[in-house]
Amino acid sequence: MDHFEYRDGELWCEGVDLTELAGRVGTPLYVYSRRTLEDHYDRLVKAFAQLDPLICYSIKSCGNVNLCRILAGRGAGMDVVSGGELFRAQQAGVRMDKIVYAGVGKTDAEIRDAITAKIGWFNIESEAEFENIASIAKQMGAQVRAALRINPDVDPKTHAKTTTGKKETKFGVDIERARRFFERYGQDEHALLRAVHLHIGSPVYSPEPYVQAIDKALTLIEKLRHQDYQIDAIDIGGGFGADYESGQSPSFADYASEIVPTLKKFHDDGGQVILEPGRTIAANAGVLLTRVQYIKMGGSKKFVIIDSGMHHLIRPTLYDSFHFIWPTKVAPMHQPDKGQRRLEMDLPGLEPCEVVGPVCESGDYLAKARRLPPVARGDVLCVFSAGAYGMVMASNYNAFPRPAEVLINDKRVTQIRRRETYQDLVAGELEPTEL
Ligand SMILES: *Cc1c(COP(=O)(O)O)cnc(C)c1O
Repeated sequence: MDHFEYRDGELWCEGVDLTELAGRVGTPLYVYSRRTLEDHYDRLVKAFAQLDPLICYSIKSCGNVNLCRILAGRGAGMDVVSGGELFRAQQAGVRMDKIVYAGVGKTDAEIRDAITAKIGWFNIESEAEFENIASIAKQMGAQVRAALRINPDVDPKTHAKTTTGKKETKFGVDIERARRFFERYGQDEHALLRAVHLHIGSPVYSPEPYVQAIDKALTLIEKLRHQDYQIDAIDIGGGFGADYESGQSPSFADYASEIVPTLKKFHDDGGQVILEPGRTIAANAGVLLTRVQYIKMGGSKKFVIIDSGMHHLIRPTLYDSFHFIWPTKVAPMHQPDKGQRRLEMDLPGLEPCEVVGPVCESGDYLAKARRLPPVARGDVLCVFSAGAYGMVMASNYNAFPRPAEVLINDKRVTQIRRRETYQDLVAGELEPTEL
């Protein structure tokens, strides 16, 4: 569900014609729909309302301060994984007691900043990290709350690079070790170990792996409570799917209908439930607009060479991800219906294309063997579902400035990040200093 749609062969976002926008503001360009972002957040809140969860938006999925501010304004907390993300959350006005801080490699400086900011929870990934946080909190005369990240050893059936809840990943500790963890650290006075955290991976296209993992976590919590450890919260992580292809992902209500019953008792007994969704909120709230530079035949292959690529959206290269790509202006017969964004489009006159960028890497593509309507030099293509893990992973490789970002709110367009310049590329290099 989003607010990008074709009308009379032209792609619109809310009240804005995207072909015209690309001409006026330039490409490559990330475009976000405010209404879509808000709708996604509101639907999630509604679906899980019975648990009254703290929703900590995963800022790593799409971290523009202006977008985070919109979510914070609706009551969202944030899931951060670095000091830089904590800083972003602060800039966006997020309430610090609604921050959860995960990540396997927190540095002393990052930990001190988070303690000073009085964040809600440290999500702990190892014994060594717990000891370090407790000792820094002691030095600072502070008391922090900590959740132990457990590794429930379920298979979320997602890409190897985004599977995080199986035994052989670097994240969390396994369940047997979790009990020993509490026995060892459960009485610490500076880091109060009071919650269990899990994040099984992403995207996870069905509720079952969550239910399995939560059941394991609840069994652990019951045992811990039996041993008189106080457990105040369970954080079930993120990873809910997004529709990269129409209809691919369960709805928020579908996830909730399975997950809510497993947590109802925990909640009714006074426990707090925390969610850490990222992509499911951001992915379809953003698109990447890019312009066709050249068409080139290579053997029997048609290469569509664009002014964007892996340096702006690395998901296809990194995770073999699918993004629906379509011209912003098409003949009536090539207009995709609402909810019809698929790998295989059943329309006449499509041609197989390789959609590639200008970067000097053969991994620089956004689509392979993709059937597209006829496209020509100068056409604007829209790369859909690019809101999450798009701009946040963009780089300056090959010294291409990163794209601008704009936010659409009905008919209004606001630049929320200016396009980088060549000067930006060298700004940190111009005055070498002796150390
Ligand atoms: C990445 C991550 C998330 C968010 O994942 P999505 O797929 O964007 O929902 C949540 N929690 C943790 C700990 C993460 O690392």
